[in-house]
Amino acid sequence: GQTKVQMSAFDKGHSINYQRIEDNLQVVRSRLNRPLTLSEKIVYGHLDNPHEADIRPGASYLKLRPDRVACQDATAQMALLQFMSAGLPTVAVPTTVHCDHLIEAQVGGAKDLARANDINKEVYDFLATATAKYGIGFWKPGSGIIHQIILENYAFPGGLMIGTDSHTPNAGGLGMVAVGVGGADAVDVMADIPWELKCPKRIGVHLTGKISGWTTPKDVILKVAGILTVKGGTGAIIEYFGEGVTSLSCTGMATICNMGAEIGATTSVFPYNERMGQYLDATNRTPIRQYAESFAHNLRPDQNAEYDQVIEINLSELEPHINGPYTPDLATPLSKFAQAVKDNNWPDKLSVGLIGSCTNSSYEDMSRAASIADEAASHGLKAQSGFIVTPGSEQIRATIERDGQMQSLEKAGGVVLANACGPCIGQWDRKDVPKGTKNSIITSYNRNFTGRNDANTATHAFVASPDLVTAMVFGGSLTFNPMKDSLKGADGQEFKFSDPSGKELPPRGYDPGENTYQAPPQDRAAVNVAVDPKSDRLQLLEPFKPWDGKDPQGLPVLIKAKGKCTTDHSLIGAINEANGEANKVQNVFTGEWNTVPETAKEYRDKHHTGWVVIGDENYGEGSSREHAALEPRFLGGTAVITRSFARIHETNLKKQGMLPLTFKNPQDYEKVRPDDKVDLIGIKDLKEGSDVTLRVHHKDGKSEDIPLQHTFNAGQITWHRAGSALNHMAKSKQ
Ligand code: SF4
Repeated sequence: GQTKVQMSAFDKGHSINYQRIEDNLQVVRSRLNRPLTLSEKIVYGHLDNPHEADIRPGASYLKLRPDRVACQDATAQMALLQFMSAGLPTVAVPTTVHCDHLIEAQVGGAKDLARANDINKEVYDFLATATAKYGIGFWKPGSGIIHQIILENYAFPGGLMIGTDSHTPNAGGLGMVAVGVGGADAVDVMADIPWELKCPKRIGVHLTGKISGWTTPKDVILKVAGILTVKGGTGAIIEYFGEGVTSLSCTGMATICNMGAEIGATTSVFPYNERMGQYLDATNRTPIRQYAESFAHNLRPDQNAEYDQVIEINLSELEPHINGPYTPDLATPLSKFAQAVKDNNWPDKLSVGLIGSCTNSSYEDMSRAASIADEAASHGLKAQSGFIVTPGSEQIRATIERDGQMQSLEKAGGVVLANACGPCIGQWDRKDVPKGTKNSIITSYNRNFTGRNDANTATHAFVASPDLVTAMVFGGSLTFNPMKDSLKGADGQEFKFSDPSGKELPPRGYDPGENTYQAPPQDRAAVNVAVDPKSDRLQLLEPFKPWDGKDPQGLPVLIKAKGKCTTDHSLIGAINEANGEANKVQNVFTGEWNTVPETAKEYRDKHHTGWVVIGDENYGEGSSREHAALEPRFLGGTAVITRSFARIHETNLKKQGMLPLTFKNPQDYEKVRPDDKVDLIGIKDLKEGSDVTLRVHHKDGKSEDIPLQHTFNAGQITWHRAGSALNHMAKSKQ
């Protein structure tokens, strides 16, 4: 059959590998002997080693081989600098970088973009040249928001992608398992190191009935967020299924998956269906549709697949919802919202409504919003509140400009911003309300945490469908319910909005707009990566030094951390056992008290020694950020010795070339003092399961030996030897 279907128009020579899924699943099925859910099929279909993988949802860790990587401009900088330090010639899997986060909204599209190009020139130049050098696709400022561009060009059913942004799961609307990760994970995959993921639990959402009227796909996820709360999806993939699925557009399914991030889910995914097929056709990917259809048996759950939890939603009965303020899981059905506004004393006057963002700027969203604006205009009405539109991509912007929706929105008083994140990520130079003033805004975005949009903690931000946002902009107040309240037209006549309507896909096809893509050049050797040595935003990284071949001796204890240890930000949140304070430690050589990072630097630069951290239980919990492991290594750390580790952080430390070790007897933690110096015996002979001894030299001259253990396997030991996993990768590719 058909085996060579290109992953995307931009990835010549990279085809979709459904055969690997098929082969992997054959192995996994024979081992597990039970029906599989959709996410299990896609995830296990990308296992690095299906024969030996330990597959226990919610418990074990999987090593996976993602199909592609996507980075946004804010997180790509560190990821690329790290990748460069390895000295590899090119990325191992198709990768893209998207310039969307650094564009501030002030006056509107073109001007804001020009200003951003100016202010961020250094970063953009670096990203443009580094991507060119290493074979990465580069989407320039103005191209649009990462997740929208991924959906339009790169997502495909059954794929596995990681992205350095929390809303990467948006691609689940096209049946892809797409997970938001830290930069270090992205670097691993770019460098051909398997990606580690805790084996996800499975939450099923069973959709029955049919969506209609004012209810939109957004309301599905607003409802689910209300049920599961902001933590309810943690460690799980949310899988939608049931006959209700096909009443949702593909872009609507993407909206639902996008906002799964708000409930902490690893990602969300829909089974392959004809709505995805239509979207693939509309975005010039018919061969992918055909290939997916031929593989559909693995792009849906097995019969009788079991979930850890199932939520039932009848779309025919689902009401529009408004979530917020200040948290996306405070879900109120529209019919109860006006009362909630009064009961809670939320500011009734609506100051600004914002539509678009990566979450809700599809052609369908814009068409429905325009239908509402047109109806208001036909009664002579203009927006009563501020009205802001952020198109998700240049393609959407160009298409709605050609087809007239943009004119409808502008005529109503809408201001169209650059194709970028803008107000969604606080890049909003808001002038209409002074900081500190209590006010309400409503957006079709995904997050509404305090101060996220405009840095004003008194702003009450609510989240709803673009339809509701648009209608409420004409009502001018939060208590306006377009399903039941009338508005007075310019002619004095009362009218009620009809149900919004809009085409899901552009009848004349998408207009790609301006070409904003930079493909990596043929001759990459000639590309010089632009980093200004005087830059305070970018700094080339030296690869970490390889291990010197000796057992470390005489290392100071940088800090003995007590209790829960926040390892983020160079250990500055950890409580020092010596004084009960955070970020204040004593230099064992000079006796001076200083911050943790400064003291570490002194050890590194003045005393030319490594150091160790002594930690308590579950050290590194919640520190999936790569910096949590990168920074201690950068500051010269040798080992972290704890009662126990959070698994991900332990692996991250190993990747950076550090030694995570644990006390064989957890109570030995008490034996180490903050002013001790220590030797590590057994590093020279480190093997899987070997012993390590911590020889502690107390200040009073006494020494004692404390048994330690480690979880290094043979492969991970090579990381330590080489100085880091990246160094090892670079060496093995030479
Ligand atoms: Fe993140 Fe908002 Fe940008 Fe989406 S639009 S990628 S949520 S900042």
